Amino acid sequence: MASYAARRRSDLSDLDLKAPKPGEQSRPRRIGVLGGTFDPVHVGHLRGALEVAEALGLDELRMMPSARPPHRDTPQVSAQDRLAMVECAVAGVPPLVVDARELQRDKPSWTIDTLESLRAEMAAETQVFLLLGWDAFCGLPTWHRWEELLQHCHILVLQRPDADSEPPDALRNLLAARSVSDPLALKGPSGQIAFVWQTPLAVSATQIRQLLASGKSVRFLVPDAVLAYIDAHGLYRASN
Ligand code: ATP
Repeated sequence: MASYAARRRSDLSDLDLKAPKPGEQSRPRRIGVLGGTFDPVHVGHLRGALEVAEALGLDELRMMPSARPPHRDTPQVSAQDRLAMVECAVAGVPPLVVDARELQRDKPSWTIDTLESLRAEMAAETQVFLLLGWDAFCGLPTWHRWEELLQHCHILVLQRPDADSEPPDALRNLLAARSVSDPLALKGPSGQIAFVWQTPLAVSATQIRQLLASGKSVRFLVPDAVLAYIDAHGLYRASN
């Protein structure tokens, strides 16, 4: 059993207690969240996440693998493998970190639950940014309690060159009411939507799975460490 002090230290590290350095103005923490199946994680996710983190000066960008994605097919490899690949991908790449909370829940990965659990750990003024690729954003009205999401976070929409869906009417209304043109102008802990520019990378996990299943290389589409994990565990090959 860890000592009280050790537990307290780890409790505190989960809270947003970041003391300003002398002469430094304290500002609210900025936390980004990128959820996904990550089956497998690829450069489209990683480069987008890093660019957003730098552009917005995020203190942390949490990559959150989903357990049982409610809106899509069952992932092809285990949650443990998907998590391990994300861990390999972000090791030593601050401010990208892994948050495995959705894998620890024995329920579907509803984003609203995730945001509520994150918020419970954070100071009220912490800014939370939920990153969604354009395709995921267009599907928002099918999400559980989707209209409450903006009570807990801002939404940053990443353009996705391989996605050409049109937003449903419900989202057009939301965009008219809540979007701001400059992501740096997002104020307060939650409530607004902005689009963010990023290097367009038309890479998808589907394409990577197909390449691997047909015996082709995915080198440079995933980090080398992820490729090494895929090879070491024989993932996605035709025999799987
Ligand atoms: P699949 O091909 O299996 O559907 P995917 O490549 O879309 O997978 P996900 O894990 O479903 O990957 O994506 C997680 C999040 O990352 C989603 O919000 C998605 O829109 C976004 N995303 C994925 N690939 C890109 C990309 N190339 N550029 C920008 N955003 C992306």
